[in-house]
Amino acid sequence: LNRRLAAFGTTIFAEMSALAVRTGAINLGQGFPDTDGPEEVREAAVRALRDGRGNQYPPGPGVPELRAAVTEHQRRWYGLGFDPDTEVLITAGATEAIAASLLALVEPGDEVIALEPYYDSYAACVAMAGGARVPVTLRPDGDTFRLDLDELRAAVTDRTRLILLNTPHNPTGTVLTHDELAAVAELAVERDLLVVTDEVYEHLVFGTEHTPLVSFPGMRERTVTISSSGKTFSFTGWKVGWVTGAPELVTAVRSAKQYLTYVSAGPFQYAVAEALALPDAYFHGIRDDLRAKRDLLADGLTDAGFHVFRPSGTYFITTDIRPLGETDGFAFCRSLPERCGVVAVPNAVFYDHQDQGSPFVRFAFCKREEVLADAVARLKTLA
Ligand code: PMP
Ligand code: GLN
Repeated sequence: LNRRLAAFGTTIFAEMSALAVRTGAINLGQGFPDTDGPEEVREAAVRALRDGRGNQYPPGPGVPELRAAVTEHQRRWYGLGFDPDTEVLITAGATEAIAASLLALVEPGDEVIALEPYYDSYAACVAMAGGARVPVTLRPDGDTFRLDLDELRAAVTDRTRLILLNTPHNPTGTVLTHDELAAVAELAVERDLLVVTDEVYEHLVFGTEHTPLVSFPGMRERTVTISSSGKTFSFTGWKVGWVTGAPELVTAVRSAKQYLTYVSAGPFQYAVAEALALPDAYFHGIRDDLRAKRDLLADGLTDAGFHVFRPSGTYFITTDIRPLGETDGFAFCRSLPERCGVVAVPNAVFYDHQDQGSPFVRFAFCKREEVLADAVARLKTLA
């Protein structure tokens, strides 16, 4: 393994899911739903396979039906206009979109600012692109985490190339407010920065609104927006994601994508095009369902003695384990399956400043209610 990647080892998600399988514990580690997405969308994939749509290499930018559906989705939910031919790119999940964006836009030595804790592929992809990551730490504040805008401003240097943003935010569940996003946009314009914004949880927000960063003044020409069908439609195994942005940016990302995967799996693209056209009721339904699950797990974790940061979005609840008399999230997560049959993820893996992340542990609530109730009953035996 080369020096750029040597530090990264095995991703925590693989490690923790393997631990869950090995111990038979309830897996609230890796974020994937235990109920598949809509039947009619699965049928659409079967039809595409059977009818021979997408069984051979689809077009590099993605099938026209899906690019049109992504464009229509941006218009319908946000009133944003994109050209499906020049401003949309279909990728192998958001993960490839992140990699291709960084490989395309970062020069060796460029600084990339990311909100810490950050999704684990960010650090690895910045490293693969030869960039230097500059973490800006979200600070715990009561039952939420906050972005300190002064810290963000102070992190920008003459070598900063881009800000890698994520809202709704994994693992904290924070949804950046309108004012915070406006300030990020102002800073990007003032310092002439690009922003790559990972908005895969755009529809999974509870009691608040998600606003795309690209909708702020001056951002249309400098923002690469990333989303994915995995979360919105509960098909994390399909790996269909997309990028929207100005033609020069999307062309650049596409140049990198060509040599990573060339194209993404064909039949699933047709099915996701149909999924994006589902009525509003579908999108509200998944959101409301997850909100109820968040409440169930958040209340249960509170009863079990954790300090809970109540997420406004995503699949995840971050907790502080110090009220349980614990301080080391790594040790806690390693012992948890044996102690009570539950798997969780130590947030420290998402930090450069390990000391900042040490007491935090993440639990996924994208699971059936009976599974969450069982997990809560087990966690209550810890106290
Ligand atoms: N970004 C974030 C913030 C995520 O939580 C995930 C996890 N699935 C991804 C990107 C990757 O998405 P995909 O599965 O579509 O590659
Ligand atoms: N995004 C999911 C999580 O944070 C997992 C994705 C992965 O396994 N790479 O749990």
